[in-house]
Amino acid sequence: MPESSSSALPPAPAVATRPSQPAPLTLGFDADDTLWHNETLFASAHQKFHALLASHHDPATVERALYATELRNLPLYGYGAKGFTLSAIETAIELTGGRVSSSELHALLALGRDILAHPVELLEAVPDTLAALGAAGHRMLLITKGDLRHQERKIEASGLAPHFLAAEVVSEKDEATYARLLRRHGVAPERFLMVGNSLRSDIAPVLALGGLAAHIPYPLTWEHEKLAELPSAPGRFFTLGSIRELPALVARLAVAEGA
Ligand SMILES: [Mg+2]
Repeated sequence: MPESSSSALPPAPAVATRPSQPAPLTLGFDADDTLWHNETLFASAHQKFHALLASHHDPATVERALYATELRNLPLYGYGAKGFTLSAIETAIELTGGRVSSSELHALLALGRDILAHPVELLEAVPDTLAALGAAGHRMLLITKGDLRHQERKIEASGLAPHFLAAEVVSEKDEATYARLLRRHGVAPERFLMVGNSLRSDIAPVLALGGLAAHIPYPLTWEHEKLAELPSAPGRFFTLGSIRELPALVARLAVAEGA
């Protein structure tokens, strides 16, 4: 048969005509209020703090002063319960004109210690969802900020560590941190989906790097983690009602991004 005959051509390789195949993504998971409850503990501590200072100031004034102190101290103390405790003590000294008693200081220390000692309470459907994503071949990183020891203990107590390639406890979740982590793990931003409850820490910096982000709001959000406006990144930013919706989104993205 002459070579010019089309019937003599070998069939095109199957791969060229097949629909695009899913390619596994690397998924980053925030921990506090994404995998387990956290903000509810801080909200409860804030209420006790208001009650403790109720004879000096109304709750709104106390809350405003505490938030201002926390923001001022963030660069020095970082995030977490220990920084909160020190800021609560500092605020109490300020708001009482230095008259806070040692028993009140003891109560303030207990607020922080109660947060640190509280057992880990997983959010609904978390272990099953992580197992399903792992079974689908996706690599998963845990990326969390806060007190190092507290976070390490919660990761251990959660029983979720085996799902993750690595657990990264960082002092700030900004563009520089995510860029460093992606480089370290050899992940291209466009193959990375970050999942978390904080627009400021989990979503905005990853979108800025060209990555994908899934926002799963938690009923409570610390003021500092809010953004005035939702980020705009069509096709790269998603809002989910629950972590249960994540496997379907990831499956869809794995096909689209693998095309
Ligand atoms: Mg969080």
